[in-house]
Amino acid sequence: MSPSDAFEAEPSRQSRGSALVGSLLLLVDRDAERAARQVELLRAHDAESIEVQADLGEYESARRSGERDFNVWDAVVWHCDARTDAEELTRTLVAWYERFPAVPVVVVANEPDMTVAMAALRGRAADLVARSAGDDGLLAVLERVLRQRPDPIDAISPSNKRALVVGAHPDDAEIGVGGTIHRLVRRGWDATVLTMSHGSGGGDPAERTAEAQRAAHVLGAVLVMEDFPDGAIDDSSATVRAIERVVRRVQPEIVLVHSDKDTHQDHRAVHRATLVAARSVPRVGCYQSPSAMVTFQPNRFVDLRERDLEAKLAAIRAHGSQARTRAYLDEDLVRATARYWGRYANAHFTEPLEMIRASTPTRFRPDGH
Ligand SMILES: [Zn+2]
Repeated sequence: MSPSDAFEAEPSRQSRGSALVGSLLLLVDRDAERAARQVELLRAHDAESIEVQADLGEYESARRSGERDFNVWDAVVWHCDARTDAEELTRTLVAWYERFPAVPVVVVANEPDMTVAMAALRGRAADLVARSAGDDGLLAVLERVLRQRPDPIDAISPSNKRALVVGAHPDDAEIGVGGTIHRLVRRGWDATVLTMSHGSGGGDPAERTAEAQRAAHVLGAVLVMEDFPDGAIDDSSATVRAIERVVRRVQPEIVLVHSDKDTHQDHRAVHRATLVAARSVPRVGCYQSPSAMVTFQPNRFVDLRERDLEAKLAAIRAHGSQARTRAYLDEDLVRATARYWGRYANAHFTEPLEMIRASTPTRFRPDGH
């Protein structure tokens, strides 16, 4: 097979590379027929999941279904009609953003005049599209809005600035989200790194512990170390309880952990145990490890400044015993990876996250499930 055959063998999709690919969308339209047509259109552009409801205010009842708890939309398309007056438009948008500050709403209106435009502006609509702009007009706007999704850190309420990063081994947190940790601390957050083992599988545990301390110091994070067996960490209740203790003490607004799309069994076990232990934490995201599989599919990107990336590299260098033997700690690769993920967020450097929960702080119940 020649190289060109290999390309042709792939399904031909007009939307390859589009920000719509894999997106979770909420379509709000009282006109069921029009909604059905739009679902088809968005599916044809590889939106992964499209929910339809008639009214933007309906999310409350819909959310009680439970499953929604672990799903947060990437964007909302709200078709207004003649029944939606300007005041209602603003009021509904304001109420929406109180609940879902990170989920942008694109308003589609018949022929938006100045009153409608002002109402959408007051409600902080992500954009306003005239229905006459047609499918192409809507797709272009949606594409732009999805590319400018708020950074997961910026979208967080400033009231609770505590973050917990859980990793199976010393250096996992630094490689996955070292830049994010540095950025959070720079912006006044308290960051705690919980490492579940001393990494005896990759070197002398005492040396690795000292390295982990130095790395945490570089990032400005507090280090907590557990002593589970490197290579044999499971997701049993002992693991869950150990993570729970730290969650209770730190009371984080956001927890970051390994993705389950990872070939390392320790990483997957820590992912599962953390999901249980952090069940009451408003935001849970998964970072990329060098052992992440190609199915790792981030939906949020944390924008890093050069100094965040420099701090990440310095923290990785602190793990000197590993840097000597592990190619994935190579500075070029770390830098290139951050640069690569930057293209998904119109940023120079980013760290990717699979956000699996992003409830608003109002729903934070420290002792509940
Ligand atoms: Zn690891």
